[in-house]
Amino acid sequence: MKVYVDKKVAAKTTGLAEKLAALGEDNGHFVTIEWADYGKIRHQLGLPPVEFPKPVNKAAAPVLVHPPLPGLGTMAKNAAMAVAQTVIHSLTGNPLYVPEGVFNQRQTICRGCDEFLPDVRRCSICGCNCTNTWVGKMRLASQKCPSTPPKWDVWTPGT
Ligand code: SF4
Repeated sequence: MKVYVDKKVAAKTTGLAEKLAALGEDNGHFVTIEWADYGKIRHQLGLPPVEFPKPVNKAAAPVLVHPPLPGLGTMAKNAAMAVAQTVIHSLTGNPLYVPEGVFNQRQTICRGCDEFLPDVRRCSICGCNCTNTWVGKMRLASQKCPSTPPKWDVWTPGT
């Protein structure tokens, strides 16, 4: 089974683009490569495993492959940081969650962002879930986008 790898996002991982170019087939914006070869490359580069993405429809393989999420250690560290920031934010009298309008704005920004991974609905920088979940950073007032500069910021009433 072949997959498509987005060249623009592959370029963000050191060495990935070169290895894809050696084993895959250039299709303009994407490199087409055997799923097994892609797994070998990921292993050689020490990247965390990814699940085989679901085909867009049953007859349609290959499918798109997006950049890797951060490693589990980084995601655990980010989650711990988010909890600490949320506690501090709440202790200073701020609400835990953003209003619905702010949540919708954040979600719209993420959906249009290059770092958003549609198949797993996560941010490729922090690995956080960018969907409608009450424990995800999108709803937490204490959280901001990890991009530099942030595309959306910490929310306090009146901002
Ligand atoms: S959190 Fe920021 S960088 Fe990540 S997908 Fe959303 S807008 Fe993009």
